[in-house]
Amino acid sequence: MREKRLTNVQQLFPSEDGNQQTRQMVLRLIEQLVTGVDDLKNPDGVNLKGEKNRTGTFYNNLIRDSSIPNGSVPLEEVNTELLKLLHDHPYHTKYFLTNILPMASIPGIMGMIAAFLVNGNNLWDVYGPAGAEAEVRVISMMSKLIGYDALKSGGYTTWGGQGAVFSGLRIAIAKFVPDSLQKGVPDNLYAFCSEAAHYSLFKSMEASGIGSDRLIRVRTNADSSMDVDDLLVKMEEVIARGGIPIYIVATTGTTDAMGIDDLEQIYAVSDKVAVHHGLLRPHIHADSALGAFFAFFNDYDFTTNPLELKKDVAQALISIQSKMKHLHLADSLCFDFQKLGQTPYLTSLFLVKDAADLRLMDLHPDETPYVGHRGYGQYHTGYTLECSRMASSISIYSALLAFGIQGYQQLLAQFVEVNLAFREALRQEIPQAEIVNNDNPGIITLFRIYPEGSPHFHDEISGKCTLKEIERNNKFNERLFEMLGNHRDRIFFGDTKKHLLVQTKDANSIALYATKIFVISPYTETKHVHEIIQYLKETVAQVYEKYSETSILSRR
Ligand SMILES: *Cc1c(COP(=O)(O)O)cnc(C)c1O
Repeated sequence: MREKRLTNVQQLFPSEDGNQQTRQMVLRLIEQLVTGVDDLKNPDGVNLKGEKNRTGTFYNNLIRDSSIPNGSVPLEEVNTELLKLLHDHPYHTKYFLTNILPMASIPGIMGMIAAFLVNGNNLWDVYGPAGAEAEVRVISMMSKLIGYDALKSGGYTTWGGQGAVFSGLRIAIAKFVPDSLQKGVPDNLYAFCSEAAHYSLFKSMEASGIGSDRLIRVRTNADSSMDVDDLLVKMEEVIARGGIPIYIVATTGTTDAMGIDDLEQIYAVSDKVAVHHGLLRPHIHADSALGAFFAFFNDYDFTTNPLELKKDVAQALISIQSKMKHLHLADSLCFDFQKLGQTPYLTSLFLVKDAADLRLMDLHPDETPYVGHRGYGQYHTGYTLECSRMASSISIYSALLAFGIQGYQQLLAQFVEVNLAFREALRQEIPQAEIVNNDNPGIITLFRIYPEGSPHFHDEISGKCTLKEIERNNKFNERLFEMLGNHRDRIFFGDTKKHLLVQTKDANSIALYATKIFVISPYTETKHVHEIIQYLKETVAQVYEKYSETSILSRR
């Protein structure tokens, strides 16, 4: 890299006066990046082109070789270095089927650029008025979509679906023990989520100081949703021991199987238990980071079917929407726009049904000497855990305008249709593969394969297997993970080691491993399903071949 002394540091900044020369320099640099990425694209594989071996001593070498240049590296060369970072980077082609890792859409990217061009601080509208305006707008838009009263609701963009779960917990603590903000958290507070919930609540219990031992895991049904009878039993147990249930996280769209907790029942049961014991009803947070986007179908007329959805696609969407329509019962929830909202990281939106809940976590004016609580400025987010905040709501706003309700409906319907096609092709082509989240339509298919002579899924979930048998089946599936993982630059599948915690015949419990097909690229279409399933079929056959070789060897 060339280095030199800058003649003037101002040349590294956008112009003050809007002059054409600087603008063209910025546009040239952006064009260099966009063209550079385009040149790396390869629609026949997953990864961008370029050599990169990130194994072995790769990261150690980086540590050894990295230092800040003494002089200035010219911007074109900086860009060249940036493009090298992208070599061999996974990219969201039609073969990208691994997890909820979406592509950032053009409006999502434009929204980010708009925000960066003024670089406002979303902490206070005096510093970041554009972010404040966009935030208020998108909170209103999403509130209306799910059926919150937009004049009462509130929210903010935050650090992920996990940040939203943590924010919900902070509110729950403040609701039940208002002086815990000064005195610390008492040791009898409990939170609940299902066994299939994301680990966000586990983390939050650790971080809040309550401790993860006071997180109660509720059993799941076969469709990965929370077993509400078990919730009732476990809430009663906690109360009988002198504990107070303060927080329930209802997962509305699990990250692995897309199981959807029944908010209506969770609300009813928790309310009943609370009333019975003269307690406040626990704060209910819908962990809808992934699933809430299906609320875009809340007002879809499935009878006239304006998008001409196929019958099975419509049925799948009706089944999902019939659960998502209860989202408004939750006291708070989340839209992870970086998941199905098609915006870049990080664009998570935390919503509360009652904006007054945010006041419970707000800073006292005495504690905020720098910002807010002045005669000027009307929007100060002293209640967020962050101080400075990026205005990621601008990107959300941009995507919501560009897609519109119908755009999101079309995209989600496409994902669902492709997923249905995968399931059909799996059943036809790979009879050894058993779909293990069959009850959950959506955009994810989980499947397991079984060694010959081994008990299958039905036996596993009905408690008829020994721990050893399931461990053996899991190991077999892990071989498939590894084979697929080694060639993930060709087709990138996902996998999970935690699908359904099942009870064994010998009184143990164990989670099931499963391979995951996650439809997330707008470029995966039903016409690609055949080729992808053929590839999968060959790999599965190899697992069986290798397995029979090794079992012959071990028998010798
Ligand atoms: C993705 C996800 C999370 C975590 O969200 P981040 O944005 O990665 O922090 C939490 N819960 C559910 C259900 C999720 O799908």
